[in-house]
Amino acid sequence: MKNNQTPQKTINYEVFLEGVGVHSGERSAITLRPAQENSGITLLNKKFPNDLLQIGTVVPEQAMHATVLKAKTWAVSTVEHLMAAIHGLEIDNLLVEIEGFELPILDGSALPFVQAIQATGLKIQIEPKQFVTPKQTLRFEEQKKYIEIQPANKDNTLYFDYSVNFEHPLVRDSRMSGSLSPTYFTREIAPARTFGFLEQLPLLRKHGLAKGTTLGNTVVVGQEIVLNSQRFEDEFIRHKLLDLIGDLTLLGKPLAGTIIAHKTGHSFTRKIIEHSIQHPDQWEAFTSK
Ligand SMILES: [Zn+2]
Repeated sequence: MKNNQTPQKTINYEVFLEGVGVHSGERSAITLRPAQENSGITLLNKKFPNDLLQIGTVVPEQAMHATVLKAKTWAVSTVEHLMAAIHGLEIDNLLVEIEGFELPILDGSALPFVQAIQATGLKIQIEPKQFVTPKQTLRFEEQKKYIEIQPANKDNTLYFDYSVNFEHPLVRDSRMSGSLSPTYFTREIAPARTFGFLEQLPLLRKHGLAKGTTLGNTVVVGQEIVLNSQRFEDEFIRHKLLDLIGDLTLLGKPLAGTIIAHKTGHSFTRKIIEHSIQHPDQWEAFTSK
């Protein structure tokens, strides 16, 4: 490996986590296992062990409230918080063994995944880490929402500038910008929990969603008050950023470059993943800039 390259990483030992799915309300569990160089992130459903799902080869389904991935014979929902932890801690190779059809929501943030991974520690591998970036600026816009990715030109870092306005009196306009690193992710983004608006809960439940929602895994915003205590004053935008980072993990390799986004959610990130799979010639994979 050359001086300006970074080695790939996996975890030292296997890790087991279990809980309930926030939408299904059903028990689920995952076992994270170390994986060899250049194998990437692979999902395995224990009931369908021959139908592996390789991250970077699948476009997520069109789902509003969670990121859903489909293999040939099975599907899994709400993968974004685990994916964000993988991305944030810079893990390249990992096997995720799943029991159930939705990942456990745990406390609604990425922190339990981060802590479990940190407890095993990361194993440095021999092959150089690969990054991905679009060859030209990519932009998706719809009404007043947009996401833009500018190519990396001088380093492997992911820079971001994300802003939101929720049009709710308790959730003010906010904006976060900076660059992603394991320290920044662990401290500023990973602890931010899933949130929801109390008035939307009946509709979600009517559609069979949010069956596992509790105050233990979701920050609930009422008309006049937030029902639980918050971990950050601007926990909402931090969680939106967490979801964005998680969804970008589905590119299969860590994104380098600059993201500028306003009010975007899963449907916009989905377009980026779809673009990278449909137009691989317009993307570049590299080991260092
Ligand atoms: Zn989320």
